Amino acid sequence: MRDGAVTCERVCNSPFLKTFEQFDFAFQPSIDERQIRDLRTLRFVHEASNVILLGPPGVGKTHLSVALAEAAIQAGFGAYFMTAHDLVTDLGRAYREGRLDRRMRVYLAPKILVVDEMGYLPLDDLGATIFFQLVSARYERGSIILTSNKSYGDWGSIFGDPIIATAILDRLLHHSTTINIRGESYRLKDRRRAGLLPRAEDQQPPPLPPVSAAGAPNSRGKRNASL
Ligand code: ADP
Ligand code: MG
Repeated sequence: MRDGAVTCERVCNSPFLKTFEQFDFAFQPSIDERQIRDLRTLRFVHEASNVILLGPPGVGKTHLSVALAEAAIQAGFGAYFMTAHDLVTDLGRAYREGRLDRRMRVYLAPKILVVDEMGYLPLDDLGATIFFQLVSARYERGSIILTSNKSYGDWGSIFGDPIIATAILDRLLHHSTTINIRGESYRLKDRRRAGLLPRAEDQQPPPLPPVSAAGAPNSRGKRNASL
């Protein structure tokens, strides 16, 4: 790549640069390639329509979002990438400091806003309200590319309130393409192939550790908080 080349990684805050050429569509047959070809024309950007990628971890949601943002950057559009959690934390802080409107403009300016990982962490009331404001303000003005591990029916639990979830989905989905990826994690592919992981059908649940009164501490006596 040329030195000084404008790429999504450099200008739109994405964690990595990924392209469509690097994506193995054969590995993920649930993806309709015609849908992807249509998105690559960037008509959705001209139409301020949204793209929502749904599916379990590791199936390429972030990769495809960044590839779309990269294609848009190369075509001269502005794009910005944030995880849902960082976005809502940033805007929540701005709200508490009385500068929400000014900060909101940062996320309204680019033609594409990528909101990654919606749904891994639930939003509090302020977060849900702020996200609703953002989606309303971008509605029919700029595209949102959003990734989530939660299907639409579970969005009430992200926002803690089915009414606000419905209001957000209503605006988000009015002009949109949904890409539902139902496949295996690409991250696990090589390990599974090398025999380091059993095939899914051979998997047995791990034996449970002995339960103590303190609630299953680990060997260092701390509770294991990781999932
Ligand atoms: P998700 O966002 O769905 O959790 P990612 O997009 O982060 O998954 O993908 C995990 C890793 O696997 C990334 O390094 C990504 O580039 C790679 N990857 C995922 N799917 C594919 C694929 N079909 N072809 C090539 N690389 C892939
Ligand atoms: Mg991801």
